[in-house]
Amino acid sequence: MKIRNLLLLIFVALFCFGCNSNKKCENPKPKYIFLFIGDGMGVPQTQLGDAFLRADGDSLDFMYFPNRGFQTTWSLSSYITCSAASGTAMACGEKTLVDYIGCDSAGNPLKSLAYIAQEKGKKVGILTTVPIDHATPAVFYAHSKSRHSNREIDQQLPTSGFDFFGGGMFEEPIAENYNMFKLLQDNNYTLITSSDSLQYVPSLNTKICVLHPNTRLDLEIDNSDDKFTLAALTESAIKKLDNENGFFMMIEGGMIDWACHSNDAAAAAREVVGFNEAIKKAVEFYNAHPDETLIVITADHETGGLALGTARFPYFSNISLLKKQTVSYNTLEGIFMADIDSNKFTFDDCMARINAVYGNYEFDQYDISKIKKAYDFTMTGKTDYSDVDVKKFYNLSASARNAQPRDRCSAIVTTVNSVFDEHAGINWTTFAHTASQVPVSALGVGGEQFRGVIDNTEIHHKIKKMLE
Ligand SMILES: [Zn+2]
Repeated sequence: MKIRNLLLLIFVALFCFGCNSNKKCENPKPKYIFLFIGDGMGVPQTQLGDAFLRADGDSLDFMYFPNRGFQTTWSLSSYITCSAASGTAMACGEKTLVDYIGCDSAGNPLKSLAYIAQEKGKKVGILTTVPIDHATPAVFYAHSKSRHSNREIDQQLPTSGFDFFGGGMFEEPIAENYNMFKLLQDNNYTLITSSDSLQYVPSLNTKICVLHPNTRLDLEIDNSDDKFTLAALTESAIKKLDNENGFFMMIEGGMIDWACHSNDAAAAAREVVGFNEAIKKAVEFYNAHPDETLIVITADHETGGLALGTARFPYFSNISLLKKQTVSYNTLEGIFMADIDSNKFTFDDCMARINAVYGNYEFDQYDISKIKKAYDFTMTGKTDYSDVDVKKFYNLSASARNAQPRDRCSAIVTTVNSVFDEHAGINWTTFAHTASQVPVSALGVGGEQFRGVIDNTEIHHKIKKMLE
């Protein structure tokens, strides 16, 4: 054989057989694909989680993955998107209207990455911390013109044939002439509602649906000993889905968004850390299969307009202060509701409760005057704020304002959180979503394709090409 032909042969051989092991290959074919979506996790949320961990000498690993970029989030109907439209863009490769699940803007069904992976013989897992029929998981298995059409969405879950579902319970599993548990059984799914049973999952010879008895997993900040975490689900799914044809898994940190809708920085930081614990399970798997695994981590949009920094003098950052907060905004609101129902509930009672929850943090006189104003409003419904300001400061609707004191107690919680955030060096611009681009991090085979600024539909197109 001539030298030139030999060199050509070596080149062709390297190209054909070296592809899986060469991470910079033009046409990478990862056997195992993890797509992590942090709902509401913009750049500031990742930095919040990182700063929170750094107080203990740790860091948010995926922020430092070798491949980093950004993606657009806008939908066809609005520059600020919702999870349904942005999820559809990532799962199915087309921009669509707000509220649309796995459909184009004309309502035609689109094929998600999960179905494409299934067609290619891969096993499929869909995991989340929120209801399994919530927008982000739903865009991977269902088609509907409304994210709120739960029954229409739910019935498409068992017929998807995907191998592993995990997350919070269906919003409405049983109604008249309607039983999701029976539908799961009829389609050869084993339903598991206890984390104790997760260890038996790999030995079961059926498809798996692991659902928390509640419609969501516990928030990390409120989770004292519940083993039902996203990391535990991820670990179980990896064991169940590992096979010679590989797998595709979508894993959502859904309550980063919920915590940010409440402007609850301590809860959001802990949700990001919990999400990172699930990512660590994928990284462990990657370390055992570095030439066959791709991990992509991104978000659907940013929530809250979170900023690390505040206008309050002196302008410092003290994010480790958030560790003092022991329960979520939602839980504290429930505690106040019970207080108001069962006690006379004086302002001293209110401050004693706050001190217990916020680690006896010494709020200053300015803070206490703001909390007193919110307390007075909660108890009487009267304030010198306008309706617009009540909505802006307390995130309270007009109907709640005019209801009972217990319906107004989020005013106290919102105020305590906002003054606490000021001391931690944190600020928010909204209780809703924002239009910010969101970060993309990637590790493993083909990871370099996710560098730079991409459209959110490109997540679909890039992974689809890898699956073909
Ligand atoms: Zn949201």
